[in-house]
Amino acid sequence: MAEKSKQGHIVAKNVTKIYDPYGVNIHAVDDCSFEIKPGDFMAMVGPSGCGKTTMLNMIAGFDTVTEGEIFMDGELIASAEKKLMPGPDRMVVFQLGALFPWRTVIENVCFGPKMQGTYSDEKEIKEKARELLRVAGLEEFENDYPMSISSGMQRRVEIVRALMTGPKILLLDEPFRALDAMTKSVIHRHLLELYDLTGKTIMFITHDLREAVFLASTVFVMTTRPGTLKKMIKIDIPRPRNIDVITSQKFLGYMQELIDAVHKEAVKAFERGERELAR
Ligand code: ADP
Ligand code: MG
Repeated sequence: MAEKSKQGHIVAKNVTKIYDPYGVNIHAVDDCSFEIKPGDFMAMVGPSGCGKTTMLNMIAGFDTVTEGEIFMDGELIASAEKKLMPGPDRMVVFQLGALFPWRTVIENVCFGPKMQGTYSDEKEIKEKARELLRVAGLEEFENDYPMSISSGMQRRVEIVRALMTGPKILLLDEPFRALDAMTKSVIHRHLLELYDLTGKTIMFITHDLREAVFLASTVFVMTTRPGTLKKMIKIDIPRPRNIDVITSQKFLGYMQELIDAVHKEAVKAFERGERELAR
């Protein structure tokens, strides 16, 4: 297993976000503070509409912060006065991806680094791409077009593509939401292998509690809106992990703890009729 990345250290200090569409204030995130350690796999869970995507967007540079500060590796990246533009140092993978349909898998994956000029030559880019595609279980599909492979495979291509540009942190917003359970279990294995290989810092938003415990080292539970950190659970299950762990007592214990923490918040959100934004 690779060493954990020393980059992608996120510190959020008293972050508040108020949207103001047409003068109607929507208090999305409230006084939220947390830290993602370099090389950590953090999963964020919480009721719909509690501000998870908002938090990720502020880190990614898609959205402004109303109050408070976000730092990455000691550098201020977001505050009321400053917003670091989105860039290849913070790569985002969404639920609905965006591969170029007219480029093959390997062309999609190599496109970013070619534009960036981060590698010395095309051969080096291809070698790196093939290594990651192999770990993602896609080596036989490099010449296929996105529309001819399954949606689970498309998500994996996107993750590989995001890793190719050498991000400090990978930001994943419910990337596997639309996938069925069988497909998910395959993609989980590949994501964990990519994580073990690269040691990248990951922020992974999900509403699937089992997915959170299986993948993450740290789970953040958010309160209902306005969202803030309610509880942090360290998942002390050794890596590499395989699917057998999900029936262990330890795993079930973490699940119980997580369900208890999330349930109350979910009920509150439900009673208020919270909904997430359709993206
Ligand atoms: P989550 O990802 O946890 O489901 P979001 O971060 O998408 O929640 O949304 C948090 C709250 O902020 C919700 O009430 C949502 O309707 C609101 N919100 C999100 N984006 C915007 C926006 N661009 N303008 C106004 N309100 C927004
Ligand atoms: Mg969301």
